[in-house]
Amino acid sequence: MKITRVRAVKPLSPGAPDDWRDWLGQILIMIDTEEGLTGYGVGGGGLAGVHVIDTVIRDILVGQDSADVESLWEEMYWRTLPYGQKGLAIMAISGADLALWDLRAKVAQKPLAKLLSKDFTQTVPAYRTGRPTKEWLNNGTEGYSMLKLFLGFEPGERSVTKESIDRVIHEVRAVRAVLGPDVTIMGDAFMGLDVDSTLRLADELSDVGLSWIEEPLLPDDLEGYARLRDECPIPIAGGEHEYTAKAFDLLMRERLHTIVQPDVCWCGGMTELLKIYRLGAEYGIDVCPHRGSEIWSLHAICALDPNPLAESGRPWMTWVKDQPSVKNGQITLGEADGFGVAFDSDSFAVTSKT
Ligand SMILES: [Mg+2]
Repeated sequence: MKITRVRAVKPLSPGAPDDWRDWLGQILIMIDTEEGLTGYGVGGGGLAGVHVIDTVIRDILVGQDSADVESLWEEMYWRTLPYGQKGLAIMAISGADLALWDLRAKVAQKPLAKLLSKDFTQTVPAYRTGRPTKEWLNNGTEGYSMLKLFLGFEPGERSVTKESIDRVIHEVRAVRAVLGPDVTIMGDAFMGLDVDSTLRLADELSDVGLSWIEEPLLPDDLEGYARLRDECPIPIAGGEHEYTAKAFDLLMRERLHTIVQPDVCWCGGMTELLKIYRLGAEYGIDVCPHRGSEIWSLHAICALDPNPLAESGRPWMTWVKDQPSVKNGQITLGEADGFGVAFDSDSFAVTSKT
């Protein structure tokens, strides 16, 4: 189908926490076709991402055949390469790619998961994330049997002190004591540790049963991750701030993470996530997409994942309508074509030129 119009907007998220990456907000990309179908995708990069769509990506896509998803991805990648590769250009491309995949599945008149695999799983388990550790003590598990504790660090070791490590050790032990041995617990360090503090944390928590420590180091500290691969007794997860399958190939080939967590709205879209799943199968590394219960990853998780597990999403993204929600620690994919979601146009705060 011939692409006739490409629009990008940064919708309002009224319930979003003040500190939640306002500078890197989610953007919605809409791709219209001559036949009247519209594809929707969500990417990142905030208003800068909208600018990339408006000034570069739109000119690449308009007039092209929407079926040429993979070659259009290549064109978008190469045209933004000098300033792209990682970060906001790829985040913007991710949304455009997802909109093209939405169109591909809508043309096939199938939910995307069905297009990706005949044997897709409709219902998959989910885990809950995003809450400071101590709040789990008051709120319980809300029906989840798997929880990820936010360990309270900030990127770049700015918040690492002996006191902060002691606090985390105390809090994780308290959570385990309250929740008991049957709940699976993971910890997310959000790039806030160094190698030595990660090893100390892992050593002191070795009897607590943490299933993984997520993003202990900055994404480009590959030497540090190699040390953790060799010395850390707890599996290391990460990759939500990594981009393109090429970069994930290195992470997996060197076994720098035990679990990789690509974010499909940031890492290059569905085109790249599919490659990352293929690499995961090849290298024997688990792929567990970041915020996987949001619809953009959920189709791939249901279709391709031998051990499906969906991370809870962001409840404040209310402008995405008809997303399935987690119930009793499970999430069930709908039956609608494409990604199967609609949008609340009242919340579109910023609209690009048309
Ligand atoms: Mg994380």
